[in-house]
Amino acid sequence: GGNSVNETSSSMRVYVRIRPQNPKEIENNTRSIIQVVDENVLIFDSKEETEPFFFHGSKQNCRDLQKKQNKELNFGFDRVFGCNSSNEAVFEVSTKDIVKSLLDGFNCSVFAYGATGAGKTYTMLGSNTVPGITYLTIVELYKQMEILSSEKEFNLGVSHLEVYNENVQDLIQPSGPLHLREDSNYGVRIPGLSLHRITNADELFALMAKGNKNRTQHPTDSNAESSRSHSVFQLYIRMTNKLDRNLKIMKLSMIDLAGSERGSATGCKGMRFTEGSNINKSLLALGNCINSLAGGLKHIPYRDSKLTRLLKDSLGGNCQTVMIANVSPSSNSYEDTYNTLKYATRAKKI
Ligand code: ADP
Ligand code: MG
Repeated sequence: GGNSVNETSSSMRVYVRIRPQNPKEIENNTRSIIQVVDENVLIFDSKEETEPFFFHGSKQNCRDLQKKQNKELNFGFDRVFGCNSSNEAVFEVSTKDIVKSLLDGFNCSVFAYGATGAGKTYTMLGSNTVPGITYLTIVELYKQMEILSSEKEFNLGVSHLEVYNENVQDLIQPSGPLHLREDSNYGVRIPGLSLHRITNADELFALMAKGNKNRTQHPTDSNAESSRSHSVFQLYIRMTNKLDRNLKIMKLSMIDLAGSERGSATGCKGMRFTEGSNINKSLLALGNCINSLAGGLKHIPYRDSKLTRLLKDSLGGNCQTVMIANVSPSSNSYEDTYNTLKYATRAKKI
């Protein structure tokens, strides 16, 4: 059609995941502000009280009569995961087929976006008993590599870093701050970043868990200051064709973003963003890159932050990108959830 700006080879699939209400929200009997309509649609701030948020027999039905009229806004996404969805279910829909893209030679990235406590780390990393989608994706990758093993040879290496206050730190072998280099042959390089060979998904999970312990924000710590680090886990795949020795290098980036509660890059009204103030620069820059890609602009401001410089070769272009927007269903998180849904909606246009 005539609308060619949206028909570039880049694509972003956008999912929303709603976590269950936590014990505190249940105890306070907070109102649920999201109604899941079907697989693709949710209503934010609906007039109706809805079934999925009954939990442990307590009914989340306390309408606040003081409140202004409900917004009752419809949002559509590639998929909406309700509060009963498992990490497996999210994986099946969101990242399983990314493995195919990787083995077809594309860089892929997966972002977990959302406010602190919305479920980003639960989704990406998970725990020993409930592994997250990174682990599940790598298990699938090993399955697919096995199928190809008569034709192809594979070498896998992983790195895990964090971007905190615009400093890049190695999470597996912590050292001083690291610097980014742009290399015309290899894309973005980070001299000094440790790279670790892995031979199965369990080794990867162990490395990730170790890396997360070294995060400025411990994943279970909801301390406001420390929720401003981005965790970037990268998997490099070297795939050699056994017949002609042709080598391809692909990269999968799994990014557990800083909490979006401040400077949420949604351009929400009444908030003024100025550089150097209490804003997460990388999160803001990511939003600007996403908006530029979505608008079909030629100039994408990758250079504006460490995170976007780092992901320049994994965002836009021929990359497969997935965003999982994590939200809480509770009225306590009204603004955060609203901002996250708006940010995710904008990303969908890429
Ligand atoms: P974030 O990383 O976005 O700050 P977390 O992933 O740490 O948030 O989640 C906050 C809390 O909610 C954690 O205790 C986590 O175990 C729990 N949680 C998040 N998502 C889910 C879910 N889908 N099902 C069950 N518990 C969840
Ligand atoms: Mg977290």
